[in-house]
Amino acid sequence: MTPDENMETREIIRKIALLNALRYGGKAQSNPVLGKLLGECPHLRGRIREVTVLIDEVVQEVNSLSLEKQSELVEQKWPEVLVSEKVEEKRILPPLPNVEKYERVVTRFSPNPDFVLHLGSARAIILSYEYARMYDGQFFLRFEDTDPKTKKPKLQFYDSIREDLAWLGCEWDGEFVQSDRLEIYYEHAEKILKDGNAYVCACKRKDFQEKVRNKQPCPCRILKPKENFLRWKGMLDGTYGEGEAVVRVKTDLGHPNPAVRDWPALRIIDTEKYPHPRVGSKYRVWPLYNFACGVDDHLMGITHIIRGKEHLTNQARQEYMYQHFGWRYPEAIHYGRLKITGASLSKSVILQGFRDGLFKHWDDPRLATLAALRRRGITPLAIRRLIVDVGPKTADVVLSWENLYAYNRKIIDPAADRYFFVRDPRKLTVKNVPHAFTAEVPLHPDHPERGFRSFEIEPEKGVASFRVSSDDLGLLKKGRKVRFMELFNLQVERVERDLVQAVFHSELYEEARTLGARLIHWIPMDSGVPCEVVMPDASTVKGVAEEACEALSPNEVIQFERFGFVRVDAVNEKLTVYFAHR
Ligand SMILES: [Zn+2]
Repeated sequence: MTPDENMETREIIRKIALLNALRYGGKAQSNPVLGKLLGECPHLRGRIREVTVLIDEVVQEVNSLSLEKQSELVEQKWPEVLVSEKVEEKRILPPLPNVEKYERVVTRFSPNPDFVLHLGSARAIILSYEYARMYDGQFFLRFEDTDPKTKKPKLQFYDSIREDLAWLGCEWDGEFVQSDRLEIYYEHAEKILKDGNAYVCACKRKDFQEKVRNKQPCPCRILKPKENFLRWKGMLDGTYGEGEAVVRVKTDLGHPNPAVRDWPALRIIDTEKYPHPRVGSKYRVWPLYNFACGVDDHLMGITHIIRGKEHLTNQARQEYMYQHFGWRYPEAIHYGRLKITGASLSKSVILQGFRDGLFKHWDDPRLATLAALRRRGITPLAIRRLIVDVGPKTADVVLSWENLYAYNRKIIDPAADRYFFVRDPRKLTVKNVPHAFTAEVPLHPDHPERGFRSFEIEPEKGVASFRVSSDDLGLLKKGRKVRFMELFNLQVERVERDLVQAVFHSELYEEARTLGARLIHWIPMDSGVPCEVVMPDASTVKGVAEEACEALSPNEVIQFERFGFVRVDAVNEKLTVYFAHR
């Protein structure tokens, strides 16, 4: 480690150690600190020895401080950590504005089914859902699938979106699909044209843009409703081709944002060339986002729109249309951006990854899609709690994976049964084992009622053989004493490349404590199931899981002792699991 790296690592360790100390009455422990550090900084995995020395020093230093001093330090230097540590506290969303004006609160989630949902989309879903529940209102799902050309919907995504919402536990009270509602948009287009509040513009796009940039009307703006109506019929019957005519809603041409001025409401798409996946080539005139969304929000009685602040311009556009129709614009809450460090939530980046062959499935563990999180054993409850705690605040929020893991850990730690998994196994023999042992190891130390896994150790001429992980070779040095968890204590005699030889030392746990012996896990030789762990970076880790894992079923989330939480993905001749977090 360079001196800089050393300083940086030391600082991270100090943070983790202080938090650990705060949680345990002022005394941090090296082991959990190491685990947490490796979770946060996986690149240190190869340098455990150096890191352990650092941790021991820092932990000693931290433990010499008073509890008061410790919490003072954390509050000064890492106040945000303290906030994310308080996951247990009750979560209440701030009240919605002007609820009393409406008979009942109605919210909606309105995705374009051209993509999967990811952690970023979860915010709109969960906030809209939770607010509807909070006020005993209604929550609608609306598919905004009116662009069969550039944002072409795909049938598979209608289903995956429904599946994701159901998984999140956000049941919707009604479902709408915009491609079923074209006639409704046509009716409204005809009305707004007839009222003289919109016009059919047949200018070249470039010409229109130049005019409007200079706050000038294009020649079509002064057309009479009758002429507009003829042009409108021409859009519908094919007189105009794609790109040749567009319905524009009249706004203030002096609006400071040129993108708001006389915005396009409906346009022609050559659906012979770009058929819609649901309605094929039945329609050629399609509403643009603001028109369809604006009409629907009103007709569906949406009272509160909860969405990202990138929609502020859309609100400015739609408000003109609402005025023209004599409608009241719903309450709109615009939250700030949510960034997860290390996760790409960008559609274009993810799609490029698919084109380059980097990703093959939407649940690739490197993605922050809901499908990927599900596969890794992240619970919907953790996502919901996290999102509710972040709330609809307008400031941008940066979260780390570790934030999400902290929520998830709180939920799965008490629920997940524990098993031994030996990564990259090495053989270890113990001689002078005085008698046969039956180790009864609880599935969860806090819940003995869940039962035990049982291991029979029958030494042959005093020798018993085991598998241990190569990760523990650092602890298995000649002369060292270690404890086999829930079994016995042993002393290492000799270490060869593929074999560690040890001698039985003693039986009791108390003895291990007196000796300061570290605890390691083990599996009897000639037992266990081959196991592959798919890691968050899509690499795989191979090893052996204990025999009892054969009885697991897919979707169970378990904890591999001293390794981390995993979700069982498949159980056949080998066990495949996905890594969640430490
Ligand atoms: Zn024009």
